[in-house]
Amino acid sequence: MKIPYNKLYCSGNETVYIKDALKRGQISGDGYYTDLVTSFIEKRFCVGRAMMTTSATHALELSCLAIDLQQGDEVIMPSFTFPSTANAVMLRGGRPVFAEIKEETLNIDPLDVEKRISSKTRAIIAVHYAGIGCEMDKIMDLADRYGLYVIEDAAQAVNARYKGKYLGSWGDMGCYSFHGTKNYTSGEGGAILINGTDSFLNGKIETIRQKGTNRTQFLRGEVDRYCWVEVGSSYTPSDILMAFLYSQLMDLDYITAARKKIHDYYSTELQEYVKAGTLKTMTIPPDCEPNYHLFYILLPSEKLRDKVMYGLNNRGISAAIHFVPLHSAPMGVRLGYKKEELPVTENVSSCLLRLPMYTGMIREEMEYVIENLKEILKVI
Ligand SMILES: *Cc1c(COP(=O)(O)O)cnc(C)c1O
Repeated sequence: MKIPYNKLYCSGNETVYIKDALKRGQISGDGYYTDLVTSFIEKRFCVGRAMMTTSATHALELSCLAIDLQQGDEVIMPSFTFPSTANAVMLRGGRPVFAEIKEETLNIDPLDVEKRISSKTRAIIAVHYAGIGCEMDKIMDLADRYGLYVIEDAAQAVNARYKGKYLGSWGDMGCYSFHGTKNYTSGEGGAILINGTDSFLNGKIETIRQKGTNRTQFLRGEVDRYCWVEVGSSYTPSDILMAFLYSQLMDLDYITAARKKIHDYYSTELQEYVKAGTLKTMTIPPDCEPNYHLFYILLPSEKLRDKVMYGLNNRGISAAIHFVPLHSAPMGVRLGYKKEELPVTENVSSCLLRLPMYTGMIREEMEYVIENLKEILKVI
């Protein structure tokens, strides 16, 4: 049996909506389906304002443009994240300041964030790993006390909650991803969420996203033509992609429930190994309601992790490592960071293994993964 790490799930209505988008004859950005998914996101996740983007990477870039991040400004973020989080800051000439994560959640540690705040700090980017929420109450409190912006990298956390409130709706801005590897997808796609009542951020993001024009105001009928009002770029996805996404969002509950089943199966089957101290599995803190984006285990060492990974790979199971910490990656080293600076991050990254998880995964496939994992664990 071959088990891929990830596999596209289609509800079946994707082509129906795409055909309809074609029939409507308007497939550029901010069309019929873009409106539908935007209102769905705003209502369902209780966010002030959502605007669809071409990716979470672009949503992160937009948020750094919106706060007018300047040369030399510092932004605190975990090192255990995808490069896009740091690129967004560096593209503006800012400096990513890497903070340590907590072993229980692999999310940024608010105590360590506070230690790294300086007179140059402008913002904190909270990354919700595996759809498990950061301690957003503590992070928002820090931001209030020091006058910082909070941007949530909720790329993995669409439809997940912390203390009952949806991730992406806590910070000044939130960034979603609908990339092909995420739970709900349009192949490539994302959204930027703006919370609170900051009309400045709203206006700014509207114009930057629309090539620096006031086209969004024009579409609302507020001006009789649109023109260039500031420096901007193009971050609007085609309505064809949003038609695809609409179909996925209509299946949001089904997708989440299907992934929860896989999570629960893995978690239950591996309990005895956790008790015996052979490995750790991801745990869900009581304050978190995840979206079951991924399932990871932590082995006691890098050597054992690699052994288990190659063992599974040889049996046709695509288990995978995850983030190479940014601070010790070649670009991080060029920024002057040293590997030893963030020991928890380094350790977790070298011991972590993700097991296959995709919406359409059937029971036999889950069993195959676990049977093989158990066999490999017997001989390591
Ligand atoms: C997937 C991911 C991104 C990038 O998302 P895109 O939509 O592919 O740009 C950014 N940050 C994190 C934490 C991610 O997991």
